[in-house]
Amino acid sequence: MHIVSLSFDDGFEDSFPRVVDLYEGHGLRACLNIVATVRGRPGFAADVEGVPELDLTNFDLWNSLAARGHEIMPHTYCHQNLQNVSLATAEALIDRGLELFAEHLQGYDASRAIYNFAYNASTPEVEALLETRVRAWRTGGSEINPLPTATTRRITCSAHGPGNCEEDLDRKLAEFVASEGGWFVYNLHGLDEEGWGGRHTWTTCSADCSTRERRFVRWGRRWMTLHECVATATRVGARPHSTRSSTGDPP
Ligand SMILES: [Zn+2]
Repeated sequence: MHIVSLSFDDGFEDSFPRVVDLYEGHGLRACLNIVATVRGRPGFAADVEGVPELDLTNFDLWNSLAARGHEIMPHTYCHQNLQNVSLATAEALIDRGLELFAEHLQGYDASRAIYNFAYNASTPEVEALLETRVRAWRTGGSEINPLPTATTRRITCSAHGPGNCEEDLDRKLAEFVASEGGWFVYNLHGLDEEGWGGRHTWTTCSADCSTRERRFVRWGRRWMTLHECVATATRVGARPHSTRSSTGDPP
């Protein structure tokens, strides 16, 4: 079985509604991860220690996308790289972020949440903090995961940047399709070069995401969000199954 999840980070206000439109066009749910707070924009907080008081990002928009059935998950409190702070600071930042999600994101449920690390950067000690706080977490590593089970906690992904990720994504998808299978998780950001610079390794995806999804659905590859995939594995206690049927031949 081949399952594909594209996991969009940060909260781009132009791109995220467009990603949702693309996914809805295929009857799919988008997988969107947002930074809770902002000073200007996400990606800013590489020098922040502790838990600064910052304005929220656009929870009205995130809630409107969630209300349309899409997956909105935590992508940190203030986009701090938790490899660069003390464990106590990391814990404080995680907890402050999860509090804000619980308070402001409609339908948020910590027992179902997937925590998406900023920069896909974590340590074993920081990951251990999440074991009692969320259902699972996404960090850096291979984009090909084993199929999830009821006990899956750690999900790895790859990304590409700075610059456009199309070539990298297409190459990795082609390798995945030729593999025995598993769960492909790839981290994206905005569409059509929407992004912002600084120390973030930006990756973008062009609007032909739509073509890619159509191709994969036609090939019978399952296209799921991170939580859909984990939750389905939890429900059936084994391999996830998609309601989307195979309607074509593999390439
Ligand atoms: Zn990010």
